Amino acid sequence: MRRDSPSGGILVLGEIRSGRLHPAALELTAKARLLADDMGAEVSTLLLFSEIDVKPETLIGYGADSVICVRDRRLGLFDQEVQSRILYRIIRDTRPGIVLAPATTSGRSIMPAVAAKLRTGLTADCTGLDIDPETKQLLQTRPAIGGNIMATIRTPEHRPQMATVRPRTFAIPASDPNRAGSVKELTLPDHCFESRVVPLGLERSDGDDVNIQDRDVVVSGGKGMKKQENFVLLRDLAELLDGGVGASRAAVDNKWIPYSHQVGLSGKVVAPKVYFAVGISGTVQHLAGMQTSGMIVAINKDPEAPIFKVADIGLCGDLFDIVPRLIEVLRGRKGV
Ligand SMILES: Cc1cc2nc3c(=O)[nH]c(=O)nc-3n(C[C@H](O)[C@H](O)[C@H](O)COP(=O)(O)OP(=O)(O)OC[C@H]3O[C@@H](n4cnc5c(N)ncnc54)[C@H](O)[C@@H]3O)c2cc1C
Repeated sequence: MRRDSPSGGILVLGEIRSGRLHPAALELTAKARLLADDMGAEVSTLLLFSEIDVKPETLIGYGADSVICVRDRRLGLFDQEVQSRILYRIIRDTRPGIVLAPATTSGRSIMPAVAAKLRTGLTADCTGLDIDPETKQLLQTRPAIGGNIMATIRTPEHRPQMATVRPRTFAIPASDPNRAGSVKELTLPDHCFESRVVPLGLERSDGDDVNIQDRDVVVSGGKGMKKQENFVLLRDLAELLDGGVGASRAAVDNKWIPYSHQVGLSGKVVAPKVYFAVGISGTVQHLAGMQTSGMIVAINKDPEAPIFKVADIGLCGDLFDIVPRLIEVLRGRKGV
């Protein structure tokens, strides 16, 4: 759509996975609230689902002025064609100025299809969003050129301005129980749910059993781990701390651990309370996935390793000496 089409508030696409509201819906609604306050605009959050584990009005406490619900049994299994068609239709009818979605697998597949149909731009994988105080345009910031620079992108000519945002980029504030808003249930005609795809079911892929993004402690290993068998050390340490195991891309590329454990620019973004970087040098691409962690503990034998610049605790030495000693101390404390 050209910019001169009437455009208004911010529309957030909230994700529901297997009947559970993804935390990114709260995160993006809260961020949209801050942006909307800078623009003097309203926030609507769109939920497409067959079942949901929370009341849709929950989103109001996080900043939505209205929650638009499409509840239909045909939305139980993710279908890109159907969800894109519904999002397109709602954008066409409500004419938001900005549309935000999480940069999850589904957000990353729906948003490009809708942006292409609307003939507008899309900035994928943003790690920062702001409103230009003068033009009121959305400033969409994301890593570029292999993560070596941060690029700020605008969509000056077309509307809506569309962006996907990496989950866990922004903090989720506490809910405000006093906020007021409305919940609208939409019933859509049958043809909206037609699809060339027949979803048969949902299966987890190997290694996806542990979602490291949900853990309070993540113990990640890099090329310094030397071989796959040595990851048992990290699994032992993680287990004692009730944490998950992450990895650098070098470890994943060496097939020491599945991709679902990769942390960084082309992997997952994690923000646990404690992040262990073991035998990881700390390139910008790795930091992009963990630098907002509460506390960073780096174990590296190279005192010049860049990871020490972001570490709260740096242990300089051989990991094959340090990690077994940490495990021993923790086992001693736990009496196991
Ligand atoms: C577009 C793009 C996207 C990328 N995405 C990602 C990403 O998502 N995640 C990611 O991690 N990388 C990513 N990378 C790759 C990144 O640039 C680095 O190559 C990678 O992070 C390096 O992994 P590493 O730190 O494990 O290995 P290295 O850089 O080789 O570091 C190994 C470290 O182990 C230490 N070490 C070795 N032996 C020991 C020992 N015995 N005891 C203690 N320390 C030891 C060394 O001192 C060294 O610091 C990306 C690159 C590009 C171009």
